[in-house]
Amino acid sequence: MYILARALKNVGIDVMYGLVGIPVTEMAYIAQAQGIRFISFRHEQQAGMAAATHGFLTKTPGVLLTVSSLGFINGLTATVNATVNCYPMIQISGSSQRETIDLEQGAYEGLDQLNVAKGLVKAAYRVNRPEDIPTAVARAYRAAVSGRPGGVYLDVTTACLGAVMNHDDAEKLLFKPVDPCPAVQPSAESVDRALQLLASARQPAILLGKGAAYAQVDDKIKQLVETTGIPFYPMSMAKGLMPDNHPLSAISARSTIMEKADVVMLIGARLNWLLSRGHGKWNPQGQFIQLDIDPGEFDCNRPIAAPVVGDIESSLDAILAKLPGLKLNMDPAWVKGIQDESKVKNAKFLERLAPQTVPMTHWSALSAVKKVLEANPDTILVNEGANTLDDTRDSVDMFLPRHRIDCATWAIMGMGMGSAIGAAVATGKSVVAVEGDSAFGFSGMDFSTICRFNLPVTVVIFNNGGIYNGIGENLSKDGDPAPTTLDVKARYDKLGDAFGAQTYYVTTPAQLGSALAEAVASKKPCLIDVQLAADSGKESGHIGYLNPAPLIDIV
Ligand code: ADP
Ligand code: MG
Repeated sequence: MYILARALKNVGIDVMYGLVGIPVTEMAYIAQAQGIRFISFRHEQQAGMAAATHGFLTKTPGVLLTVSSLGFINGLTATVNATVNCYPMIQISGSSQRETIDLEQGAYEGLDQLNVAKGLVKAAYRVNRPEDIPTAVARAYRAAVSGRPGGVYLDVTTACLGAVMNHDDAEKLLFKPVDPCPAVQPSAESVDRALQLLASARQPAILLGKGAAYAQVDDKIKQLVETTGIPFYPMSMAKGLMPDNHPLSAISARSTIMEKADVVMLIGARLNWLLSRGHGKWNPQGQFIQLDIDPGEFDCNRPIAAPVVGDIESSLDAILAKLPGLKLNMDPAWVKGIQDESKVKNAKFLERLAPQTVPMTHWSALSAVKKVLEANPDTILVNEGANTLDDTRDSVDMFLPRHRIDCATWAIMGMGMGSAIGAAVATGKSVVAVEGDSAFGFSGMDFSTICRFNLPVTVVIFNNGGIYNGIGENLSKDGDPAPTTLDVKARYDKLGDAFGAQTYYVTTPAQLGSALAEAVASKKPCLIDVQLAADSGKESGHIGYLNPAPLIDIV
């Protein structure tokens, strides 16, 4: 365990997220003694969400420590989600005695964890001998951050955790991997092809994804957009990479970009379900340039006319170097059209936020949240829910890169408290988590972790008493609540009181605005129960079309 802590420290890991028990309790103590912060959680899944967010924000792997069997599986959920989202993290789990597991003799917490993890994560290794620990840590680190980042599983057997080695011999084994995330240079040919296509475009657009945010090349993105004058559209976690209110922002003209752009340059964004996989509204004649580290991504939904394989920094460097000689062919009316459309749409959107309706709707509550968050742009916004996710994303403008963390590619629920903790620990910045009441339920107990570590996190719960809303049609013959119904009268603020947080119960937009402003300024754990009307919100938010048809008919 000492060697593992030393090896992690040696590669630069200074925080671990986890939940202890047999056989890793001692491991966490030893890590602390070695100067690694140990953030102890109430549920492994949330510890994993924290590690994943830490990885996204820092470009170094977040580390999750779990116990065997169920603890491992709980944490694996987050490691798999990190892999899907291209966040670098390492889950280290203690695992029970190999011999008894392999012979299926009924071991304590007996599970063949390595084989469960394999296939779900980017890479998975088992370490059996203490002298192999430095190699295992270096491999896990490299696998997590290099190429397309992802989640890595490291299985450490109980025997290995307990093994003893001579101190000096162990120290000699430690090493720091050289260049763990090597640059991947794009070929000159692919860059020229991309630039030619871009130059030919009359109505081009740049589409920024969270891979572009992850790459931390904010100035280069800005240079590309501003030198070319091409409008950009950010995916949700790329919001703020360029300010949402930038003159070239096409955030309010999504349909126009899809329907009319003739060349779209995807930067660290996948043409997946979040973009109708390139079909639906998309211009069938439109052509794509795609900058991505993973060549396997290209052509998966639409043919990519100009694929550029490389890390975003190297690819942008190569593109920017050749920009001065490039003659663009963009129609000036294209940008003007997007700007005019955006003006009209933005004004219309503000009308939606204007009525100070009480009992509050998502919109009247968001009118207050928007003001406070936009006045505090350096606050990281964590966001999950259905309507709470969609409406917050659309309402709150972002101005700084990597300040929005949400349920991302899988659109899962249950990342809120963990991601808020990871964001606060990794950056030291204030965090506001805007949560649907259902979404909060998945991770609510880890609000206590926010309090124990006295983190500057404010949790805002939009309570409409249900999944989607609190008025689900009740078909039960037994008088049971509808499957979507929770409790619109639940007082989540009292849950915050239990852990010593500063809490608020608000019923009007004005109360919400002043509570949130005070909470953010306090830089302390705070919880705001936002009382909404039970009928605020619709089934599945904006993605009801993904339901099987009969379900839509019933509800
Ligand atoms: P979004 O949901 O915002 O569209 P995705 O997660 O779908 O973003 O896409 C991110 C893409 O970025 C992935 O295809 C991934 O391979 C790519 N990516 C991540 N990091 C880098 C990097 N440093 N350089 C190049 N591509 C990257
Ligand atoms: Mg709800």
